[in-house]
Amino acid sequence: MKYADEYRDKELAMGLARAIRAKAESGKAYRFMEFCGGHTHAIARYGLEDMLPDNVRMIHGPGCPVCVLPAGRIDMAIALAERSEVVLCVYGDLMRVPGSRGSSLLRAKARGADVRMVYSTLDAIALAEQNPGREVVFFAIGFETTTPPTAVMVRLADKKQLANFSVFCNHVLTPPAMRAILDSENPVEIDGFVGPAHVSTVIGTAPYEPFARDDGKPVVIAGFEPLDMMQAILMLIEQVNDGRHEVENQYRRAVTGSGNRRAIDEMAEIFELRDQFEWRGLGSIPSSALKLRPAFAHLDAELRFAMSELVVADNPACECPAILRGVKKPVDCRLFGNACTPETPVGSCMVSSEGACAAHWTYGRFRDHQRRLAS
Ligand code: SF4
Repeated sequence: MKYADEYRDKELAMGLARAIRAKAESGKAYRFMEFCGGHTHAIARYGLEDMLPDNVRMIHGPGCPVCVLPAGRIDMAIALAERSEVVLCVYGDLMRVPGSRGSSLLRAKARGADVRMVYSTLDAIALAEQNPGREVVFFAIGFETTTPPTAVMVRLADKKQLANFSVFCNHVLTPPAMRAILDSENPVEIDGFVGPAHVSTVIGTAPYEPFARDDGKPVVIAGFEPLDMMQAILMLIEQVNDGRHEVENQYRRAVTGSGNRRAIDEMAEIFELRDQFEWRGLGSIPSSALKLRPAFAHLDAELRFAMSELVVADNPACECPAILRGVKKPVDCRLFGNACTPETPVGSCMVSSEGACAAHWTYGRFRDHQRRLAS
């Protein structure tokens, strides 16, 4: 396959691994957080950690939109879906994310709630047009990657004057989450970030400058292919060795400094910042999420259905909060592979295909087994 195989070339990967081993100075620790769940998945899928020397360690970050949605927001969506007049449209991953007390949208659907899986925002618009007697609500989630399609959907619904359509907005922002990671009590030691790929195609590289300039943390934006990741890790090691802390762009084939101006402008016209937003694992973070601007309040499900904010405690046995802060790994959770599997997820990190626990379940546990056998 052209344009994918080139980024998975074994010889080039081995060459990058040799370069990393040569550059990684013994006696020095290199701890890099890959913010994005897509990177976590690539690391696990291609066994990249096995190609790194022991003193280069990758730390999973909170960049999976399904994983960071707290149980309270899932409970709010379930309560909405259980209203007889509501059809709730969701992306597939959200169906099984646990709310409080083991609830989920899938279980609500089994009890009779009208929850429909959609593949695009346009599917939700079509459902509203086909069901004028029902209230169709789109459960919007995601980082800056999925926010522009929601903005386009809101504008379209407004233009069509869809009276039976609204949005339960849960869009969150990457830079405030990175700030929360660095400013958290007992933060994990991080020497640099592998910056998100898809998010950066929208916002560009500029929003990461404060982490390099003010916090002294190098950031390298990277694509999702194995060679992208290996090259980004090498670039980070070189920055650490040189005592530099800059934003560098490995993913130049897709990301520019200023990002996608049209998408940024569209988001700014439709959304405004929330004062606070609760994240799973990271707590309440100021100015870290979006809501609809007053001009589009008639399409805001939280206002239309007078939804109350719910904050509920996470399952105390689930280590998702610590994993999302980079403090623990999936195997540190005693439920991993026992009570918690992709078929029976206890926490959000096992549900989403980008979740750290799901990635380790799918790819990493076999390596764990082989290591145990070898030792
Ligand atoms: S294994 Fe399951 S319960 Fe444990 S941290 Fe991962 S998702 Fe949460």
